[in-house]
Amino acid sequence: MQLTVWTYEGPPHVGAMRIATALKDVHYVLHAPQGDTYADLLFTMIERRDHRPPVTYTTFQARDLGKDTAEIFRDAMLASYERFKPNAMLVGASCTAELIQDDPAGLAAASGIPVPIVPLELPSYQKKENWGAAETFYQLVRKLVRPAEEAAPREEGVRPRCNLLGPTALGFRHRDDVREITYLLDKLGIDVNVCAPLNATAEDIARLGEADFNVVMYPEIADTTARWLERNFKQPRTTIVPIGVGATRDFIHEVAELAGIDPAAALKELECRLPWYSRSIDSNYLTGKRVFIFADATHALAAARIASEELGYEVVGLGTYSREFARDVRAKAKDLGIEALITDDYLEVEQQVQDLQPELVLGTQMERHIAKRLGIACAVISAPVHVQDYPARTSPQMGFEGANVIFDDWVHPLMMGLEEHLLGMFREDFEFNDDAVPSHLAMHGETGPRVQAQPEKPDAAAADDKAPIIWEPDAEKELRKIPFFVRGKAKRNAEAFAAEKGLSQITVETLYDAKAHFGR
Ligand code: SF4
Repeated sequence: MQLTVWTYEGPPHVGAMRIATALKDVHYVLHAPQGDTYADLLFTMIERRDHRPPVTYTTFQARDLGKDTAEIFRDAMLASYERFKPNAMLVGASCTAELIQDDPAGLAAASGIPVPIVPLELPSYQKKENWGAAETFYQLVRKLVRPAEEAAPREEGVRPRCNLLGPTALGFRHRDDVREITYLLDKLGIDVNVCAPLNATAEDIARLGEADFNVVMYPEIADTTARWLERNFKQPRTTIVPIGVGATRDFIHEVAELAGIDPAAALKELECRLPWYSRSIDSNYLTGKRVFIFADATHALAAARIASEELGYEVVGLGTYSREFARDVRAKAKDLGIEALITDDYLEVEQQVQDLQPELVLGTQMERHIAKRLGIACAVISAPVHVQDYPARTSPQMGFEGANVIFDDWVHPLMMGLEEHLLGMFREDFEFNDDAVPSHLAMHGETGPRVQAQPEKPDAAAADDKAPIIWEPDAEKELRKIPFFVRGKAKRNAEAFAAEKGLSQITVETLYDAKAHFGR
């Protein structure tokens, strides 16, 4: 185990908490030292949930270690059953408690608690949060689902039914994706039997076998369970995650085939603005922008497809921290002619961003910090995320509305207020030169106080004792035509370009060469 300041995933018991918190009537008893209650904050502060996770921590302390910690666990389990009266319970241990080997499973079996109890064996030192969530969901389903022969058969004339598998608490836009996919399936004439774990009850889990097929929304969480249901309940599963226009269309065809329906009418009715927006003049300006992607596997793969096929970006870097899905990400990277970065060390990611110098970073909260430090535009596309990525409004990633949201989120960071063609159009304009007064009334002869040009801060490059680069008068004049709010950047770019080329003077030509170089 490596100590680190930032981490993409927590320990596996945090994954179990994400499942328990998503469910409605399941309680988790976690053998954990005092201090591990910090995990509650992930849900109440970051996700802004309106109630605490349904977790009872035993909170043993150092002085308890000489005594019977198993008794502390047993008491906590009985007390939490009495207090919360859940319909099923999960029991397990956090990293530290795992070391004292109190056997939560055995203690639970001997407790006499009259509801199903699922003991969790989550190897904290080998596995991580998403694996922990997947394993918890799988064990819970195995324990609670009613046998296939008891599943109520679909009656004649009733619409096909599917389960939505994978959305959890603390997931990136899971709540909104569920809404969007439910809407999309409804348009196709398919009902949702159960969505799990998000907002499901123990009884809902028991009914999973009644669906015709399963929609795997987030493979990191639901793949293991969906495969098991496929083997044991003959329920086929989807393989396409509907993020992006192309993937949503492919997903619609896939579910239509599984449900035995014709999707043509629904496809005609369902609308998406992304293709039109992508063809608009503003977006053409963004064609070929160099983008770096790092996320969980589901979102990294989706982002790579959208960036390269739908927005016309050039993917220069692609990676994931989801080691279980490294093979898929490697294959996608190979298609794009690059090598995938598989790591859970954010310093390696930062190094690659620095080396590749992309114009846009698509990543997690970690990449947002990295991009900010390096002055690169960024959009967040995957967990782990921070509080601002749980918006109050509906903001899905999946389906056609998700594609619209993605367009807005990825394109706006690159816009910088005014687009290139507008800069060209207005650069001779009376309002955008140094003599302009700070008022639109200048054209009527108003002369307000002039804005004092702020002296440019010397940057690090200029501070060393290299000979300064000379600007030729013509080049300086040309520079002054560039609107003030981007002039500093143009100047720095031209100087960096000249330094790289070993030039001591900047001419008009150098200025335009630098523009072409950085505008690639
Ligand atoms: S027991 Fe695990 S989760 Fe808790 S503080 Fe230690 S490392 Fe973190």
